[in-house]
Amino acid sequence: MTSNALLRNLPQDCPHTVCAGRTLAAIRFAIISVLALMTVPELSAQRSQLKPPWNMYSPQTDVQLGKRNAEILERHVILCNDPKVDAYLTQLGLRLAAKLPTRGIQYPWEFHCVNSKEINAFALPGGFVFVNRGAIEVSDNEAQLAAVMAHELSHVALRHGTAQASKAQLAQGAAGIFGGLFGGSAGGALLTQGVALGAGGVLLHYSRTDETQADVLGTQALFDTGYDPRAMAQFFEKLEGETKGKNPPQFLSDHPNPGNRVERVDEEIDKLGGPPPDAKRDSSEFEAIKREVMALPVVKNGAPPVAAVPQPPSGNFVEYEATAYRLKYPDNWKKYEEGGNTTFAPDGGIAQGGALTYGMIVSVNQVKADSNDPNALESVTQQFIQDLQKTNPGLRVARNSGRVKLNGEPGLSTYLTNDSPAGGPETDWLITVLQPQGLVGFLCVAPQAAFSNYEKTFTSMLDTVRLAK
Ligand SMILES: [Zn+2]
Repeated sequence: MTSNALLRNLPQDCPHTVCAGRTLAAIRFAIISVLALMTVPELSAQRSQLKPPWNMYSPQTDVQLGKRNAEILERHVILCNDPKVDAYLTQLGLRLAAKLPTRGIQYPWEFHCVNSKEINAFALPGGFVFVNRGAIEVSDNEAQLAAVMAHELSHVALRHGTAQASKAQLAQGAAGIFGGLFGGSAGGALLTQGVALGAGGVLLHYSRTDETQADVLGTQALFDTGYDPRAMAQFFEKLEGETKGKNPPQFLSDHPNPGNRVERVDEEIDKLGGPPPDAKRDSSEFEAIKREVMALPVVKNGAPPVAAVPQPPSGNFVEYEATAYRLKYPDNWKKYEEGGNTTFAPDGGIAQGGALTYGMIVSVNQVKADSNDPNALESVTQQFIQDLQKTNPGLRVARNSGRVKLNGEPGLSTYLTNDSPAGGPETDWLITVLQPQGLVGFLCVAPQAAFSNYEKTFTSMLDTVRLAK
């Protein structure tokens, strides 16, 4: 467009001086704008703009959900525990993250290496990133590892996890999805098999459209950090090729091939003006980290598969000691410490989504109790049950609370029902006592049909409780 064309488009019917001045200013501004547009390199003007999909959650929910699931996950995967590797991943990840559009949201990016040979990497909403050693070992160079990470980080920036959860919630209703995301039973969330299954699956399983978006945005981030952006498609193609006929890694089912992966990435690279002239492919640092990772001890993957019905509780008990109490539990059960809670459960006592099906959870809860109120235990227990109901919409009081003694202290016994993760109704027997540390809750959980088989064990466990004085 020439300045003549611009002049023709300006209003010609302005008789006043002021008006004329303004017109001149407008012309000058218009010309400058046109020039400015022309001097901006085409490559950045034409890169694809990516619109995050519809999302009913706030970005704060992304961070909250991601943080919570990351904390759970860290207790159930075996981390590499190698500060050098984590520092390397963090430095590489932050460089990529700095180039992603996050729309003013500050994500608390965290990067961890997982000691698993399976080729996988995942980023929880809010920026909690886990990279399996297998993904580092399979990468031919730094650009390929950067590509997987850029792809993962793009899912975070575009908030694909909670967008998928939004769609699922629309389809299943609030109870279905929130039960899953926050843990389906009164026991809360315990993700035993990793977030790839159950609740986390919603947050980590992307659509083909999400995949294309993450490829394109990831390609841009690679380009902007000076890496060879072609590594994006190369890595995925390589995985597909390597696993033909074999069991494909979880990574490929979480990140389904949208088709035309290479073509779409190449198209984006063209829009960016071609690969950077001195595109970075490898670094001696990457090679050193890869050697370091390959030398890490190999750990067998995870717990045995979850059995449908656990073995009966053993009559031999072992002791457990926490700050606020001690107790004994069957020696064929395991203990899982999580936040302020300790769960005691048999193998197979935790459902795939991470919810407790059989076992006991002991929690110490900060409460505000009036020491002069004779009914303080009743009121804080009621508050505790209401809090449980927030994350367990199916939870109901089955029988009014009754006074009991626990280790000589006044306690309250309440029977509740819930939906069991194993299907059918669940009985939750709750014993609460007020202690200087807070309200200590002993929640005994089993499917209603099996509860009588566990009642004796629960009672024996409660009999062994010694509260800290
Ligand atoms: Zn993906």
